[in-house]
Amino acid sequence: MGGVTRIVIIGGGPGGYEAALVAAQLGAEVTVVDRDGLGGSAVLTDCVPSKTLIATAEVMTTFDSSYEELGIIVADDTPPLERQARVVGVDLGKVNRRVKRLAIAQSHDITQSVTRAGVTVLRGRGRLGAGGQAVDGSREVLVDAPDGSVQSLRADAVLIATGAHPRELPDAQPDGERILTWTQVYDLEELPRELIVVGSGVTGAEFAGAYQAIGSKVTLVSSRDRVLPGEDPDAAEVLEEVFRRRGMNVMSRSRAEGAKRVGDHVEVTLSDGTVIKGTHCLMAVGSIPNTAEMGLEEAGVKLNDWGQIQVDRVSRTTAPGVYAAGDCTGVFMLASVAAMQGRIAMYHALGDAVQPLNLKTVASNVFTDPEIATVGYTAADVKCGKMDAVEVKLPLRGNPRAKMQGIRDGFVKLFCRPGTGIVVGGVVVAPRASELIHPISLAVDANLTVEQVASAFTVYPSVSGSTAEAARQLHIRKRADGES
Ligand SMILES: Cc1cc2nc3c(=O)[nH]c(=O)nc-3n(C[C@H](O)[C@H](O)[C@H](O)COP(=O)(O)OP(=O)(O)OC[C@H]3O[C@@H](n4cnc5c(N)ncnc54)[C@H](O)[C@@H]3O)c2cc1C
Repeated sequence: MGGVTRIVIIGGGPGGYEAALVAAQLGAEVTVVDRDGLGGSAVLTDCVPSKTLIATAEVMTTFDSSYEELGIIVADDTPPLERQARVVGVDLGKVNRRVKRLAIAQSHDITQSVTRAGVTVLRGRGRLGAGGQAVDGSREVLVDAPDGSVQSLRADAVLIATGAHPRELPDAQPDGERILTWTQVYDLEELPRELIVVGSGVTGAEFAGAYQAIGSKVTLVSSRDRVLPGEDPDAAEVLEEVFRRRGMNVMSRSRAEGAKRVGDHVEVTLSDGTVIKGTHCLMAVGSIPNTAEMGLEEAGVKLNDWGQIQVDRVSRTTAPGVYAAGDCTGVFMLASVAAMQGRIAMYHALGDAVQPLNLKTVASNVFTDPEIATVGYTAADVKCGKMDAVEVKLPLRGNPRAKMQGIRDGFVKLFCRPGTGIVVGGVVVAPRASELIHPISLAVDANLTVEQVASAFTVYPSVSGSTAEAARQLHIRKRADGES
């Protein structure tokens, strides 16, 4: 490639816009094509809106679950029995207006910083041109603009970062009013009285927990034995127990076949014929990559059976000069991973030093109450022999700060290599576990030993004291094993 390298990025979510910033910093001529607005689904419909809703839910849960224990007096004249049920309420219309305001403001901020970096932003639908690679190695990207015009761009490297959209069941078509996808819930003005959430993966669990906290009566329909089948089993057990204790109807081993609107209600039919009734239904049954009708396979970009783009650890697809990042690759559906894959693609395309993607250092979080944060190797990896590790699990019930704060549910779990004591993974189940996982994440990333983690000071009293204590226990166990 001679002269300035031309980069075209299709999709302006975290995979796309973070890549655009890096490529511009490295001196490339960068264009981002996006059809909905920079920030992508992460900012406009998924990550940012759900966490903003959950911010309200979090306050409600903290209040509901601890005000009596912490000695707080609610000065109103609600009869005590009713007060037990609910002393504060939520104006969902107001919450949702805040959600949308924040999302749009963040999309606007991202657009500003990307354009300030010298990136050209085009509104429209991008796809690869049919011609494949030209003799100079460049590729054509076609942009279908909202006014119907088509623009042709040439690129030395193309990054596909088009994300994914909610999967729909053929017999449960969302209507945006009663049968909803997670992108549609922010149009609700009133709280669903009885919400049926179909799907108990991360998205289903987060929404079920949030709506229950803000006052809906929630039924969670799970096709598996327990909620969060992909997470640490002990963590999932804690969450399911908490959900049930707070009154959620968790239906395990129940597969939803369809949902239909009947007047101002919905009926969800399960595969065994059972019909569940509610006022609203939220479908959270996975997502579909946005890879259709983009000229990908014609250009030599291989897709797997689920329509996800196959990439290697430096984000290369099977077509030279075409990279892919984020949810359209299905590698690990997180905004942080999308951004990392996008940056890596640009480092590689522009000849900068590049570290291949390492999924074993990714920290992730389920934003329920309590939160579940995870990093590194998991209990499943240890069980199936992928990693030889020993573990310690410390319930938070024994942590002094947790006792003072009235926190009863949760734990800290650490995994380390039996010989060296190097920390290879961890799980924190606690309020704000997303913040508490960071020291474990650092330990995993820097190959720290349990001895090193145990020797660092923690504040007394603090929940993170349990992380140091878990490391200490693993260290002592390692020494005992070494001596025996
Ligand atoms: C409810 C929910 C909550 C989540 N919460 C979190 C969280 O808390 N933390 C976290 O890390 N992850 C979270 N995720 C996952 C996270 O949202 C995704 O991993 C992230 O959005 C992926 O980024 P992306 O850049 O691949 O795609 P996206 O963010 O989906 O962006 C893709 C963009 O490309 C555009 N596009 C698509 N096709 C074209 C085309 N042909 N031409 C032009 N533009 C196109 C889309 O309109 C969109 O703007 C959540 C997901 C869901 C569903």
